[in-house]
Amino acid sequence: DKDLLSLQHVSYIYSPGTAYEKVALDDVNLSLGKGEIVGLAGHTGSGKSTMIQLLNGLLKPTSGTVTFEGKDIHAKGYSGNYLRSKVGMVFQYPEHQMICDTVWEDVAFGPSKQGLTGEACETRVEEALRFVDLPEKYYQASPLQLSGGQKRRVAIAGVLAMHPEYIILDEPAAGLDAAGKREIFDRIRRMSREQGIGVLLVSHSMEDLAEYADRIIVLDDGKKILDDRPAQVFAKRETLADCGLDVPETVKLADKLRANGYQIPQNVIREKEL
Ligand code: ADP
Repeated sequence: DKDLLSLQHVSYIYSPGTAYEKVALDDVNLSLGKGEIVGLAGHTGSGKSTMIQLLNGLLKPTSGTVTFEGKDIHAKGYSGNYLRSKVGMVFQYPEHQMICDTVWEDVAFGPSKQGLTGEACETRVEEALRFVDLPEKYYQASPLQLSGGQKRRVAIAGVLAMHPEYIILDEPAAGLDAAGKREIFDRIRRMSREQGIGVLLVSHSMEDLAEYADRIIVLDDGKKILDDRPAQVFAKRETLADCGLDVPETVKLADKLRANGYQIPQNVIREKEL
């Protein structure tokens, strides 16, 4: 399965051999398919940001292997730039990845590093900015002047312009209101469905994962505890509680209804994965 991004027995230890030694990830196996939205859940300190940095090569595992398209990304001669153009990352604070004077230049940065120039590069930028629906009047604005939601759109456009196979999004809804959140998640879903892009969505909100993820991974203290379809994950109430995670209100409500003898319409179940 050469299109997969995967971790094989990956462990990561910060400051090994010192008094501050910390096993942040402990023997984790993981495969991410294309066109699938995978949610990554776990409370603070469970290892989520360590995992995503391993997946796009920013960190090198202490042991185990990270592979992309079947190749070890830390093998001699493997191009880190190639990996990072195929496995895009949108950080929690998008302003930290905006380095150019204008939105347009910022989105063009990735494709030009891939060697695209002139019209080919412009087409990429325009397509990406249109896809995220950023109004044209902002194309020449400084990315730092934009609102939180618009900055996130620009950060996503910057990754999309490189035509990635995967996108890792770290808390894409942080700081957005309900409408902004829905807007960005709907766009992420469209991107995955229409362009076959694999998405890894880091979120502390089980409600958001219930609604948008095809599969959910739960980390606790560096270990992968669950990796399953949302319905199966939410059925494991005690495990989730042990990991410090909530069950979504919609799931609790469905359970309450069932306990009281009500039937939940099939279409609702399928739609919301209750
Ligand atoms: P999460 O993203 O789920 O909050 P992290 O991957 O950031 O979790 O952290 C996992 C564990 O590794 C935590 O115990 C955290 O304190 C520790 N850790 C993270 N970064 C460092 C670092 N640079 N040095 C030492 N320990 C770290």
